[in-house]
Amino acid sequence: MQGLITKSTGSWYQVQTPDGQKIDCRIKGKFRIKGITTTNPIAVGDVVDFEMEPDREDGVITNLHQRKNYIIRKAINLSKQAQIIAANLDQAILVVTLASPRTSLGFIDRFLVTAEAYDIPARLVFNKLDLFSDEGLEILADYKAIYEDIGYPCYEVSALQGTNISQVQDLLKDKVTLFSGHSGVGKSSLINALLPELELRTHMISDWSDKGMHTTTFAEMFELPQGGFIIDTPGIRELGVIDIEKPELGHFFPEMRERMNECRFNNCRHINEPGCAVLEALEEGEISPTRYDSYLSIYNGNDTRA
Ligand code: GDP
Ligand code: ZN
Repeated sequence: MQGLITKSTGSWYQVQTPDGQKIDCRIKGKFRIKGITTTNPIAVGDVVDFEMEPDREDGVITNLHQRKNYIIRKAINLSKQAQIIAANLDQAILVVTLASPRTSLGFIDRFLVTAEAYDIPARLVFNKLDLFSDEGLEILADYKAIYEDIGYPCYEVSALQGTNISQVQDLLKDKVTLFSGHSGVGKSSLINALLPELELRTHMISDWSDKGMHTTTFAEMFELPQGGFIIDTPGIRELGVIDIEKPELGHFFPEMRERMNECRFNNCRHINEPGCAVLEALEEGEISPTRYDSYLSIYNGNDTRA
């Protein structure tokens, strides 16, 4: 039988079948991923094959299907193992706001670079619309222009007042979506507005402690009433900053990626080279100066995550 991992503790996995049944499973044998050492072989979002244990209500995972993408968190231990947070994400949403606390463009850009590197389509949700002054709304329009122009859809909502929540609901339908955001931007408020059955969370957790599974839950997917799942992570640090080699960085800026073939030198760093198509576009106002600043800042190793 085939199923989707909707919860994992590292030893137990909750597998959801296509008809909505939830089966607790363990792993038999080894599942290895090429290239990285991980503490957990299987994560939420993984598609697996499993078999029921004879005369029991739980099962055994026998096969892991190939992932289209996955995100990792680097373990803090000395073995430098990574932990897979989630797999097969359809999109990543960064919740930001321009009002208390204002999210910096550097933070947004670093998130977008990470999402590009992980090959996960990213979207921005600007929350706390109700607090924006006229000036704030103008800034919002500028930001939206910058990001929509380079292929990142933007949404403006108020989780508090319920404004435009239905647009986000439509966006999430039948997809696996990762939510990220700085603390204080209203991510929990937004998720609560999207998941009216709040008791769902506590219910799921108590279910598992009943079985004596007290181990930490790595990550969990929450099913949406309209179909689809969301995965909640605290922020970019959790999303795991992949080590990006400097020469590759430009590939993760879509507006640079589409122009760099025209740079005179094929090892152009887009910093001061003659005949650089990126610098040319910057001068002509076709590339946003704030985006280019983020490129330089990441290139030079400045931490703009905070
Ligand atoms: P999180 O840390 O990102 O999960 O943020 P919370 O959801 O806990 O919200 C942080 C604070 O912002 C709380 O005081 C919320 O009431 C407030 N907040 C969240 N969304 C909105 C909104 O749309 N408008 C306003 N005015 N406040 C909001
Ligand atoms: Zn160049």
